[in-house]
Amino acid sequence: MTIGTLSAAVSHVGRIRSNNQDSGYSGNKLFVVADGMGGHAGGDVASAIAIRRIRDADMEYTSAHDAEFALQSALIASNSLLAEAVFEHPELTGMGTTVSGFIRVGDQIAIAHIGDSRIYLYRDGELSQISVDHTFVQRLVDSGRITPEEALVHPRRSVLMRVLGDVESSPEIDTMILDTRPGDRWLLCSDGLSGVVSDTVITGILSRHSNPDDACHQLVRKSLDGGAPDNVTVVLVDVTADPDTPPGRPNTVGSAASPLVFETDSRTKPVRLPLLRLHTLKPPPESHFESQSEEYLDELIAEDKRRARRRKRNLVIGIVLIVAVVAVALSLAYQWTQTRFFVGTNGETVVVFQGVQQSLGPISLSHEYMVTSLTLDELRPYDRARVEETINVDSYSEAITIVNWLTDAAIR
Ligand code: CA
Repeated sequence: MTIGTLSAAVSHVGRIRSNNQDSGYSGNKLFVVADGMGGHAGGDVASAIAIRRIRDADMEYTSAHDAEFALQSALIASNSLLAEAVFEHPELTGMGTTVSGFIRVGDQIAIAHIGDSRIYLYRDGELSQISVDHTFVQRLVDSGRITPEEALVHPRRSVLMRVLGDVESSPEIDTMILDTRPGDRWLLCSDGLSGVVSDTVITGILSRHSNPDDACHQLVRKSLDGGAPDNVTVVLVDVTADPDTPPGRPNTVGSAASPLVFETDSRTKPVRLPLLRLHTLKPPPESHFESQSEEYLDELIAEDKRRARRRKRNLVIGIVLIVAVVAVALSLAYQWTQTRFFVGTNGETVVVFQGVQQSLGPISLSHEYMVTSLTLDELRPYDRARVEETINVDSYSEAITIVNWLTDAAIR
């Protein structure tokens, strides 16, 4: 059977980042996304260098194995280009990029993948993640240290264990060959989509929008609706049974699509990278890749535990301090109430109370200080009403003055 493809690619800077460090490419046979990252500079440079090199591999192959080898070689060549760029421009040290892509050969696809960009297959209404994230948290999940649910909110979820960059001369790249058939939709995306939009929502969009261009735009729209904290890149490839499906025009998106101008800072002159003009880079993104030794992994886990313990201890100290401050404030407030007096009644006689009439829940803030022999019945009606409502005074002596005055006016 002759099969073809219909594809689309969209890349968006997102709502928070100032530059797009993602790149994507949808060609005739090759489809790929790359998510760049960098220290002082270079995320957009890294993904652009990689995509520009890898897209040279967009051609006909006689077998999927040839395509797999060619794609893997293109990734390794990109890795060398990144190392060369860093060697010539040390300010780019630490830049790296994920790459996830495939080349279609007939009814097979040859995949190459490194990093945490993703390849999904949507088939018969179901979405499956084909690539495995090369992330710190995925490693914790694989080794049973945390659950997949904990991984979604883990503070180190953006830390990558493997990328193309200037660290490894022979990066470990996952490759595989899979069968495909008409009706399959292959989705490639950066974590700006998969980290924000759930699989369920992605599945819904793929089921409703049969046009790949529409579907790509809807996916990006969903990420923007979700706040789009990161760059978002989506490449969608529909496998069709129509041999006449015209090959789409190769489409490069993201930072690889635009000329880049780069300058280190105000003290140095702008420099040119081979074949690339680069633009000013803003502060480094939070994601970065790390060495992958077991000792380092264990140290990271220990560090996370220490941090959690410190947070817990600080929380306890904070609570104790708040309780202490509240207790002191309450004590001072109570002492103040005991400097106050008022004249009232116990129901039969006139009484001088110490404290205030208000109560704190079940706790009364006043008590009988002196019970007089003056009964309510002896008071004039007007005075009796005032005493029953209580009369506030500033001091005990003022209270006595009022009691004397009431006594003098009493009907005896
Ligand atoms: Ca990203």
